[in-house]
Amino acid sequence: MSDDLLSRPLTDVVGAGTARALRSLDLATIGDLLWHLPRRYAQRGQLTDLAALVPGEQATVLARVERVSVRPMRQRRGQVMEVVVTDGHAQLRLTFFSVRGPQRSLVEGQVGLFAGKVDVYRGTRQLVHPEFLLLEGDSGADAAQEALQFAGDLIPVYPATQAMSSWRVAKAVATVLRPLREIPDPIPSDVARARGLPERLAALRWAHDPPDRDSLAGAMTRLRYEEAFVLQVELARRRAAAMALPAIPRQGAQAGLLASFDRRRPFPLTEAQQGVGAEIAAELARAHPMHRLLHGDVGTGKTVVALRAMLAVIDAGGQAALLAPTEVLAQQHERTLRALLGPLAEGGMLGGSDLGTQVVLLTGSSATAWRRQALARIADGSAGIVVGTHALLSQQVRFHDLGLVVIDEQHRFGVEQRAALAERADTTHRPHVLVLTATPIPRTIAMTVFGDLDISVLDQAPPGRAPIATHVVAVQDRPHYLQRVWERVREEVEAGRRVYVVCPRIGEGGAAGSSPTPSEEDWWVADEDGVTPGTAVLDLADQLRSGPLSGVEVAVLHGRMTAEDKDAAMAAFVSGAAPVLVCTTVIEVGVDVPQATAMVVVDADRFGVAQLHQLRGRVGRGTHTSVCLLLTSAPAGSPARARLDAVAATTDGFALAELDLQQRREGDLLGVAQSGRQSSLRLLSARRDAALIAQARQDAIAVVAADPQLRAHPDLAAEVARMTADRADYLERG
Ligand code: ADP
Ligand code: MG
Repeated sequence: MSDDLLSRPLTDVVGAGTARALRSLDLATIGDLLWHLPRRYAQRGQLTDLAALVPGEQATVLARVERVSVRPMRQRRGQVMEVVVTDGHAQLRLTFFSVRGPQRSLVEGQVGLFAGKVDVYRGTRQLVHPEFLLLEGDSGADAAQEALQFAGDLIPVYPATQAMSSWRVAKAVATVLRPLREIPDPIPSDVARARGLPERLAALRWAHDPPDRDSLAGAMTRLRYEEAFVLQVELARRRAAAMALPAIPRQGAQAGLLASFDRRRPFPLTEAQQGVGAEIAAELARAHPMHRLLHGDVGTGKTVVALRAMLAVIDAGGQAALLAPTEVLAQQHERTLRALLGPLAEGGMLGGSDLGTQVVLLTGSSATAWRRQALARIADGSAGIVVGTHALLSQQVRFHDLGLVVIDEQHRFGVEQRAALAERADTTHRPHVLVLTATPIPRTIAMTVFGDLDISVLDQAPPGRAPIATHVVAVQDRPHYLQRVWERVREEVEAGRRVYVVCPRIGEGGAAGSSPTPSEEDWWVADEDGVTPGTAVLDLADQLRSGPLSGVEVAVLHGRMTAEDKDAAMAAFVSGAAPVLVCTTVIEVGVDVPQATAMVVVDADRFGVAQLHQLRGRVGRGTHTSVCLLLTSAPAGSPARARLDAVAATTDGFALAELDLQQRREGDLLGVAQSGRQSSLRLLSARRDAALIAQARQDAIAVVAADPQLRAHPDLAAEVARMTADRADYLERG
């Protein structure tokens, strides 16, 4: 049977009316319908919890008829029929404004499925004119009866709409499934056998109409595995294709820059840094490009690892580009690299090292004259390290010999942008690529979202880090707590330290000369309609200046400021001219100010767990004990408060990442905030299916290694093509 089968329109197999109704569920093809799986399964003899019904929702419930009454309508002619159904505990009223044939079969003791929109009438929940399907005895709902004949003890309950009840879906599925004898199967039979997976068609039959729990479990495992496998095959192919491209091997010299840097480096590398460093060095020395993701908690020292890779490349005659998501970060990186390199960053200059190279910063707001000079040094190769924002992607930027691209904070860059920079190398050779992310990523997510990259983890912080004490401060009804917070801020300032005050919002007005729209740096700032706005940076800064922090210089930083203003604000903060910085999450990633010892997060419940952890990573970078105060009005015991307590309880980023994973809805799981890539996983759950995803990945890599073009697996190739088309967003946009 041809693969086209699954793409055939539903109109070929079901009636026009049904096909139209199925469209309301976004189902157009046979494949769409077959993968429209039941949301849950009602067990015959086991009723649904009616107390849990939510008004406004479309519900399908399994319940027993308890009472039936018919009375004339008050205002009009005709009758009202009221049926009370029960699950043994709660009751639900069904109201019919006409009593026709089918309704007459609703008699006391009947068990049935009832579907409709839950609403509330005079304090009682009800379904008005629900569709229904009686499970025993005669039923007027004859279309439904037919569907039921296919149902075993587990009755499928589908996501439904007004136009298409659960059992009409079941009937349509049965109509499509019944005549099928064979469908294309993307999982190679030896893989399926080794994993003990049922055949695809059997799995679909069992998922839609399970003979028993075991078959259902087997079916779901098979279908989830299939989804994971197809995705991993595509990721493995991308990886293999990228790795097959030519690259110039870059082997660090014996007595080069890297060696000089290692001699002047003021601290020994951690074991984790050494291990990952060796991994990277080995890959740089190969004739194919490295594509590696380096992740590790804040403060684990990713910058040094990246710098050492850059120096190895420069030693081998190449250049390195460091791409940062924001101007603030690009500037910060440039400063950090210069500080780490010292005289090694002044190659070719008076007083610089003979071995040295040059570090050049290029951002969108670089002045023209400077820019021209920078471009010249990039083109003639005298700039060994080029730091910049996406301005580096511009066509004007020509590298002499780009050997390595380091991308910081991957979640703000898409795969395509990465590719664009890789193509900037004006040779037939591809640069090596190292992606850094500051977010500890749970393993499954890493495999699913970054499956096209090899992965290294820095799982060890440098020794001697000062601890960070985190406290949740419940400010609701406790004005003196708040007062105490600002006193504490003042104490830090008086001790010569710096304090971040982070707010969820920028606020109105904006500084003079600022642009009207938020920049990418405020990418996540929640100014959504209908949400009570959190405290705004601009409002709070004013309040602090004229109130609790009067006499203290307070700077402001947010994404609506111009690059110069941002730079000036950061500089004032770093120097101590303005020891308090009221800001948005512009400072979330990468910013490194060792004198900062305190952070106050206002309306902390508006931030996610991982985000709070990132923010907190901005303090505790020096030798003084640091404090992070999470201000909230969320009541004790609320989920929001529980999240904050969790953040306060640990500084282990991986533990918090796992917690974040557990608390997010699946839909958000791989969403923009986490990774920058949208997920459209259908049946898979990165949380639940970790083991299965790992198996699928292993199998996928083996299959692709043996047969990169998938010549022996036409069904698999077709499925990969279909998935790629469906998920262009997920795979391409980033
Ligand atoms: P992140 O992984 O968050 O990017 P950084 O690279 O910014 O971490 O490093 C955080 C701080 O730790 C920097 O000040 C850096 O110089 C310092 N550092 C890095 N590696 C070590 C080490 N092995 N020993 C001591 N300090 C280190
Ligand atoms: Mg960093």
